[in-house]
Amino acid sequence: MIRNVDLSKVTDNRLYTKEDIVNISCDGCKGCSDCCKSVGDSIILDPFDMYNLSKATGKSFEALMEDVIEIRLIDNLILPNIMIDEEKGCKMLDENGRCTIHALRPGFCRLFPLGRLYDDNGDFKYILQIHECDYTPKGPALISDWIGIDDLDKYEAYIKRWHAFTKMLGEYIKGLKETRKKEHFSWLLIRVFFEPSYDTNKAFYSQFEERLASYEENLKSVMDVNR
Ligand code: SF4
Ligand code: SF4
Repeated sequence: MIRNVDLSKVTDNRLYTKEDIVNISCDGCKGCSDCCKSVGDSIILDPFDMYNLSKATGKSFEALMEDVIEIRLIDNLILPNIMIDEEKGCKMLDENGRCTIHALRPGFCRLFPLGRLYDDNGDFKYILQIHECDYTPKGPALISDWIGIDDLDKYEAYIKRWHAFTKMLGEYIKGLKETRKKEHFSWLLIRVFFEPSYDTNKAFYSQFEERLASYEENLKSVMDVNR
């Protein structure tokens, strides 16, 4: 998501990699679930989140759209978000304030209170948002452990690829004059990357690459026609 914020006011003004240790550990949160209650509409899902959400719930995209996710227009793209109840917070919280999909929670939740800052080449560094969690005292955590995803190198490469693709697509859609075409490519994103179920018994990344190739082929053919 493109955000125009003064980083000196919301972060500690440092850039981190996955090998860095930062003071973010909250000792298991001790029953607090504030960040899951006041999360706003910021849990935008990427295809890996979709794969994990299906794995965690056993539900298809269509079934999840009934009461867990909703779609929103973000930076010219239509993307799914986790639904947030105004009073209770995230739909995935149970009555005791615990995340029901903790082991397979979205990437946004894994990062918190970290974020990612991308450079012009599509590379990113981690940033620490300093006003997002009041718990003190915080303990040290290695960023790679904090994120807790197997094969983090592969995951980071995927995240960069998804970021570059959605950035390019958002800019392309923004430049289109016809509303019909804008809608076609936005909805195609949902139809290619989110709606058809992923096979959760198979690895995610090869399935993603197949879908990306299919979308890019579709986009290229339209660009060629319009040339
Ligand atoms: S606000 Fe902090 S302590 Fe509370 S649940 Fe979130 S990360 Fe844990
Ligand atoms: S998915 Fe889980 S970790 Fe993420 S906001 Fe919802 S309850 Fe919290």
